[in-house]
Amino acid sequence: MPAPAPFTPVKRQLLISDFDESFADADTDRWTFECLSLPLRRKFQDIGESGTMQFTDMCSMLLKELHAQGVDAQQIIDAQKKLYLHPAMIRGVKALKSSQSPKTEAFLLSNSNSVYLQTVLEANGLYPPTFDLFTEIVTNPAKVEANGLLNLSRRVSPDGPQHTCKVGCSANMCKGDELEAYLERHDGRQAYDRLIYLGDGSNDFCPVLRLGKNDVALVRKGYGLERRIKAEGGVQCDIRYWQHAWEVEELFNALRGA
Ligand SMILES: [Mg+2]
Ligand SMILES: [Zn+2]
Repeated sequence: MPAPAPFTPVKRQLLISDFDESFADADTDRWTFECLSLPLRRKFQDIGESGTMQFTDMCSMLLKELHAQGVDAQQIIDAQKKLYLHPAMIRGVKALKSSQSPKTEAFLLSNSNSVYLQTVLEANGLYPPTFDLFTEIVTNPAKVEANGLLNLSRRVSPDGPQHTCKVGCSANMCKGDELEAYLERHDGRQAYDRLIYLGDGSNDFCPVLRLGKNDVALVRKGYGLERRIKAEGGVQCDIRYWQHAWEVEELFNALRGA
């Protein structure tokens, strides 16, 4: 990929970041089983490829099986602390967030879960009070139970009203709806001169479709989001491709006019 072309200068922008395989060069859900149970990692793969189970429900079920095998939530947390965040991603996002002009707010929007995300961010110095990076984290709720189970549930409960996304978001969450709801909670879309979406997966397609012509999607090359953009079209925003974290750092630098 050539060095990024410059961006239009703006005053205020919002970074919306996916986590697995985007902000992190790894996948939190898979990581737990790769560290702690090879048979459950295989089961994760086989059920995932069969498409017979909603993804969050599958992760939740496998966490119960892991607990039944005698693995405690603290062992899962200790494993997540070792998940890899690339130094270039950390450096790039800190510089973007710390820049006074433009002002950049950051919002983490992930199909992982609250325990994994807080653990990895804390372990890498990207969580308060060390560094106040993300204004909000929207993800699936997880909780450590008294018996040591990491209890995971869907962001959108199966017992209440469901989202009405037609773009193919999984039942646990519509990332496009969550982006719109965030903007409503934070002064509305017009408060931001530019939205920046960092993502890789097919579930990032829905929010990217909701971006306008002044916005930009930072799309990881070779993953599901790129494939959907090319197959389904309809994206109005500027698209910039990247493969490695250091290229995202270059893009973040360009987005703050450096
Ligand atoms: Mg992802
Ligand atoms: Zn959606």
